[in-house]
Amino acid sequence: MTRPSEEAEVAVIGAGPAGCAAAIGLARGGCRVLLLDRQPTPRESVCGEFLGPAAVIALAGLGLDPARLGAVPLRRARIGWGMREAGFALPFSAWALPRQVLDGALRDAAAAAGVALRPGLAVQGAWPEGAGWRLQTPGGAIAARQVVLASGKHALRGHPREGARRGALGLKLHLEGGAAGEAVTLLPLAGGYAGLQPLPGGGANLCAALPGSTLGGTMGWARDPAAFLARVAAGSALGARLLAGARPAWDRPLAIAGIPYGFRQAATGPAGLYRVGDQAAVIPSLAGEGIALALHSGLAAAAAILAGVPAVAFQARWRARVAGPMRWAGLGAWALRQAPGAAVAAARLAPAARLVAWRTRLGAEGG
Ligand SMILES: Cc1cc2nc3c(=O)[nH]c(=O)nc-3n(C[C@H](O)[C@H](O)[C@H](O)COP(=O)(O)OP(=O)(O)OC[C@H]3O[C@@H](n4cnc5c(N)ncnc54)[C@H](O)[C@@H]3O)c2cc1C
Repeated sequence: MTRPSEEAEVAVIGAGPAGCAAAIGLARGGCRVLLLDRQPTPRESVCGEFLGPAAVIALAGLGLDPARLGAVPLRRARIGWGMREAGFALPFSAWALPRQVLDGALRDAAAAAGVALRPGLAVQGAWPEGAGWRLQTPGGAIAARQVVLASGKHALRGHPREGARRGALGLKLHLEGGAAGEAVTLLPLAGGYAGLQPLPGGGANLCAALPGSTLGGTMGWARDPAAFLARVAAGSALGARLLAGARPAWDRPLAIAGIPYGFRQAATGPAGLYRVGDQAAVIPSLAGEGIALALHSGLAAAAAILAGVPAVAFQARWRARVAGPMRWAGLGAWALRQAPGAAVAAARLAPAARLVAWRTRLGAEGG
């Protein structure tokens, strides 16, 4: 064994929302933190880019304000299927902000908080050694007392998400033009759904969560930006109206396969390894609450480490805290898949729609 080239009290793997929040919380608590990300700079990732109230509260605690970052306010939710459509005022304030902007601001906030950032450094493996952990990177070994695993959708070799079944396909395409307005729009599609949101400065983000089989067979349209756009527009009068005149801004949709919606990490795992964000729980993206879960789980893991709470106890608490929003989001996604017409009819009952919108929020359960 070679001597580690670098040492830290805590090593955080992944500088997405979860990893940045954890690193900032730890640094503020006086911890020496190393934050590693395999990407040299933040990139777009498959995401609807909806920020709800729990995300906004966590961001405020980290010194970030979506409005100052250029986010577009979202005032309404809409749903359209065939000739039917419904809409209601959101019962809370929400924002649309491109992921590249959000992730960049979080990395900057981490650096300002005193976190040692290592962009462009992939962690190839991590294993317990002595009283702590050893991480392998192309730049050499790193020793840390504790590890926060915030690698999002990507499993770290040797540390799979136990019990996570392979699942859905996520697509994202930025558009020029279109008429997304100040609203989040849900458009049921091919056994899943697409979501449309405005981009700052015009254009829109078109994102979809689809069955895992979509990329192959007859659904090859998912690989082609123009065909993807046309397919969404053809599904409803609302989609056709909002997407008239829209053009793909990218050569290909971004895609990610095998999303294990509904996964919640059990209270198991090696000592000193704290899983956060999508490594701890994957809420159906219909809720637009994944970033909130990532930020709050990162902050909760930092607080747990600073207070000496063991990883399994942290994992048990987090699993319980997200149970309510996960259940409601799962129910909503199931209704949209199984009976899109009934989902539109239900959305016409504004109080019921607003109740579901609230119930999918982290914190609505009183946690
Ligand atoms: C289709 C779809 C739509 C969605 N829409 C929304 C939405 O509208 N609103 C919302 O709140 N949430 C949404 N989500 C969920 C949200 O995108 C995720 O929950 C959130 O990004 C999780 O944050 P994270 O920090 O855990 O992981 P990520 O954001 O995935 O970040 C993980 C980071 O780890 C890095 N990394 C990975 N492996 C390594 C390694 N080995 N070494 C070093 N670095 C590594 C990656 O480069 C990345 O920067 C959506 C998800 C999908 C699939």
